[in-house]
Amino acid sequence: MIEDTKPRNRWRELIWHIRNDDENMNLYDSSPLLFVHIAALLGIFLVGFSGIALAVCAAAYFIRVFALTGGYHRYFSHNSYKTSRAFQFILAFVGASAAQLGPLWWASHHRHHHQHSDTEEDIHSPRQRGIWWSHIGWLLCRKYAKAELDRVRDFAKYPEIRFIDRFHVIAPITLAVGLFYFGQWLGAAAPGLGTSGWQMVVWGFFVSTVLVYHATFCINSLTHVFGRQRYRTDDDSRNNLLLALITMGEGWHNNHHRYPVSTRQGFYWWEIDATYYILKLFSKVGLVWDLRAPPPKVYEEAETVNAQQNASAT
Ligand SMILES: [Zn+2]
Ligand SMILES: [Zn+2]
Repeated sequence: MIEDTKPRNRWRELIWHIRNDDENMNLYDSSPLLFVHIAALLGIFLVGFSGIALAVCAAAYFIRVFALTGGYHRYFSHNSYKTSRAFQFILAFVGASAAQLGPLWWASHHRHHHQHSDTEEDIHSPRQRGIWWSHIGWLLCRKYAKAELDRVRDFAKYPEIRFIDRFHVIAPITLAVGLFYFGQWLGAAAPGLGTSGWQMVVWGFFVSTVLVYHATFCINSLTHVFGRQRYRTDDDSRNNLLLALITMGEGWHNNHHRYPVSTRQGFYWWEIDATYYILKLFSKVGLVWDLRAPPPKVYEEAETVNAQQNASAT
């Protein structure tokens, strides 16, 4: 018989979770994430490395971090600028190649985070459930494995976006297979580079994907714990330069929680925001347009808080 109330004994509680609680960590839903980590860790010992493999690893990292921050986050989650249907599709496809499920899944959970930041409802709040849970724990649960389409009707209306969301595995598999053949070709055409098909797959796909995972996950965990709060938002979001550098601008998370529909998350020139610079460049050539900026009142608010902090410090 299944017990209704949570038992006090630790081992019995674990079994209770597996049987009763849809927030238990579920091997089936966690397996792709675990597989990528294991393949990266084992792979690097099996295939060796080369300069070209490291360069491709870095390129695959930055291109996909951009697709996640500029596409999944600033476009699909927050509608912070406009683009064509074709470029929207490209952002979705490249974003999906980071193996973080589809754009509708990603945006639907992220919109929920902004609605309920650091309250009991927030599904990845370090304040509520600790850093480990907010970083990766929630991703291992069946409960959050499904896209909540009600929250993303504005993009769920496009059949091609629904297709990518449903068949999100196509993008990462295409990337991995493409890298394999690229590595094989390079191995034959330029043997001096010392690379191979499998070496490209391990570094260009698996290692790079693990790095992209943790850069993204840091925004859910560390940017709600470490850094400065410029704005008195009701949540724990913070601004953190180091995380902004790693994530191409997402570390200005307190700014972002104060005004989420702004395309730029670094509100001042000294707040480095690589994703914004690229989007600005894209807007010059007409790929994207109507980039949104924080209104004057948000800047005034920053100055007021600054003046108050300076006054209290003296
Ligand atoms: Zn947040
Ligand atoms: Zn956001």
